[in-house]
Amino acid sequence: MSSDAEEEYLFKVVIIGDSAVGKSNLLSRYTLDEFDLHSKATIGVEFQTQTLDIDGKEVKAQIWDTAGQERFRAVTSAYYRGAFGALVVYDISRRSTFDSISRWLHELNTHSDTTVARMLVGNKCDLANIREVSVEEGKSLAEAEGLFFIETSALDSTNVKTAFEIVIKEIYNNVSRKVL
Ligand code: GDP
Repeated sequence: MSSDAEEEYLFKVVIIGDSAVGKSNLLSRYTLDEFDLHSKATIGVEFQTQTLDIDGKEVKAQIWDTAGQERFRAVTSAYYRGAFGALVVYDISRRSTFDSISRWLHELNTHSDTTVARMLVGNKCDLANIREVSVEEGKSLAEAEGLFFIETSALDSTNVKTAFEIVIKEIYNNVSRKVL
């Protein structure tokens, strides 16, 4: 193993969005390849760690789930502290969760202390037959706010890996640009 390959990166990534949009399931689908149809928003681990190889470097993402705290009170500033990336999630079958996105972005901007790689995620795209938010609406909000955009399904795995890995690679690029 070259000395370059031994260099280790550890980045914190947070997942935010309204209750029941699928945050916990996106995390468990990505890190454990598991999905729970009856998951309760209050039950959840605080974070999972996923390791990626980027340019021969070992990059670890410590991905945080709100574990349901958004149901009862605002997510605390400690949750955001040190985050280099964020997945901001809504449910394409529930418009109110899309309407909340600007509030979540505001909260993220208020509490974050670094440049944060941000991805707008329209989850539950398997529920296209009861869709309330169009792909175009998601795209144009993301463009207006300078975010990446993707639709995912934690249920059938569509784009879940891609969503996390675009964010993690962007963080890596941001960090290496600063180092160089
Ligand atoms: P959280 O409160 O944002 O963490 O949401 P959860 O991950 O607990 O999911 C809330 C509910 O939505 C659960 O009943 C999940 O089974 C369901 N769910 C999560 N992701 C998807 C998805 O991609 N498609 C569908 N159809 N249901 C989902």
